[in-house]
Amino acid sequence: MNLQFNREIAINYRSNSQRIRVLTEDWVKRNLYCPICGKEILNNYEANKPVADFYCEDCKSDFELKSKENTKGLLGNKIADGAYDTMINRITSMQNPNFFFLTYKNNSVNNLILIPNHFFVPSIIEKRKPLSDTAKRAGWVGCNINIGNIPESGKIYIVKNDIKIQRERVISNYQKTKFLQTSNLESRGWIMDILNCISRIPFDEFSLKQMYSFESELRLKYPENNFIKDKIRQQLQYLRDKGFIEFKSPGNYKKIL
Ligand SMILES: [Zn+2]
Repeated sequence: MNLQFNREIAINYRSNSQRIRVLTEDWVKRNLYCPICGKEILNNYEANKPVADFYCEDCKSDFELKSKENTKGLLGNKIADGAYDTMINRITSMQNPNFFFLTYKNNSVNNLILIPNHFFVPSIIEKRKPLSDTAKRAGWVGCNINIGNIPESGKIYIVKNDIKIQRERVISNYQKTKFLQTSNLESRGWIMDILNCISRIPFDEFSLKQMYSFESELRLKYPENNFIKDKIRQQLQYLRDKGFIEFKSPGNYKKIL
């Protein structure tokens, strides 16, 4: 894998966004393997295909590519994407593709993250303001993907700070999250919220008491649920069964991932 873009292919493009699109897509085609099954190459969908940008011939996974210039060395938390309604429909019908988020600087890839499609829940999608009456597509409502709300285990690095992560490690990190695929959308949302709470505790070991401190916040999100504490305990048990955390002693846990 070579992290440099091939600048020559974009010489004739005037618009910067088009140029970046061409450079990053070309880079993926030439350099990227399938991070799900390990196949050597990914295929391009024809231009403007609404489903996704790339697919794997072997495991049939779809991928959408989004890129952003890495100006301050930060990934940022929000990525602008297409129409809000389309996005929500794709998520609720479980048809959204996997997501590549690429940051670049000086015509070279800095970071490349795979966000598996099963990490997408409606609560990470933000509605943007409708386009103004003077816009070409007046009234159109786009969305932002709030990747700040995706737990760390859902951000699988393929390239991190200019360093390529070993392919075997990428695939195994993906495999560890696969259990989320089978969960329905509501339980997926719960797991995601609990994973987020866990990653906000800045220590490897944590207690049930610390987890209960998120109760009021979760209550706002799930006003119909009167058993938030029970739910927290149930989710911790589930995450232990899936190998995400370890039970140290009653009421004490340790992060594994
Ligand atoms: Zn594959």
